[in-house]
Amino acid sequence: MPDEKMKIALAGIGEIARQQHIPALRNSSDWQLAAAISRNATVDGASNHKDIDAFLNDRGDIEAISLALPPGPRFDYAVKAIEAGLHVMIEKPPAVTLAQCHLLRDLADRTDATFFVSWHSRMGRAIDEARRRLKGARLDRLRIDWREDVNQFHPGQDWIFEAGNLGVFDPGINAMSILTAILDRPAFVSSSDLYFPKGREAPIAADLRFDNGTGAEMTAKFDWRHDGEARWDIEFETDRGNFRLVCSGSYIEADGQRIGDGMTDEYPLLYALFADLVRQGRSETDFSPMIQVADAFLLGRRHEVAAFDWRKD
Ligand code: NAP
Repeated sequence: MPDEKMKIALAGIGEIARQQHIPALRNSSDWQLAAAISRNATVDGASNHKDIDAFLNDRGDIEAISLALPPGPRFDYAVKAIEAGLHVMIEKPPAVTLAQCHLLRDLADRTDATFFVSWHSRMGRAIDEARRRLKGARLDRLRIDWREDVNQFHPGQDWIFEAGNLGVFDPGINAMSILTAILDRPAFVSSSDLYFPKGREAPIAADLRFDNGTGAEMTAKFDWRHDGEARWDIEFETDRGNFRLVCSGSYIEADGQRIGDGMTDEYPLLYALFADLVRQGRSETDFSPMIQVADAFLLGRRHEVAAFDWRKD
């Protein structure tokens, strides 16, 4: 247990900040949420600042920042925070383009500070067990089933359907972050069908195929038009047995048994990892899930589907 908590600022007080970042930081033994940066909201017990410039001007005593803004506006914040020498943690997806990802990493490499490109789904409790089961096994079939109701998880967030904000790949990149973390033999996107609602700039659904050079059948279905409980599952068939990684890596189902308690503590684990990286003077900047998504767009066959409007409950 560290002697003294490190001070951290949180920028972008929206859905994920309220649901996950603030509670995780309030309960952290590593971090003290000392400042918030928001155009609209204030956070009790922290100093509040309207934007990154005001924060950098006012709080030179804070050494770390977590950026929970959408990737579009986040880039400018990330550049300024890195150039100010802060330890920086960013939400997924890391940026709007791959060039931005590399620019951020190159800037961070010039500082002594930590740059943590976070992937919350990699913190699922069954991820390590899935990796262990795949190690050395022959993978015959893999099926990603990632379906949720966009109205439930992104209510009214029009930015998410704008070009550069990934659409259904915003949750889909979580599946990619798991895949790139656990496969014994890396796979690449080999075929992509993207379904754009009439008048929107980003897809609401996608069908993908992957290739790993062995002939294994590997597919993904992402869909935001789902009614009912979200599904974030990956099924694996291997020469050593079959299993299903359920609920974004929370637990495994195999041979009729459930392995793992299904608890999710992704954000507390992310902040604990960020603290460890800072203490060790290391960075973690894996962009491989973003590369998979970029390839899905590069290969994507575009299909127009029915117009989408937010549900009014
Ligand atoms: P959100 O609620 O729409 O936006 C987060 C906050 O970002 C907004 O409340 C706003 O904060 C700030 N912001 C938005 N546009 C801005 C701009 N142009 N300039 C400055 N600040 C701006 O989005 P979110 O759902 O929290 O998602 C944010 C990030 O977290 C995304 O990258 C998303 O992929 C990721 N994420 C989301 C979820 C989820 O379930 N929602 C889960 C995991 C990860 P202020 O009003 O405070 O300025």
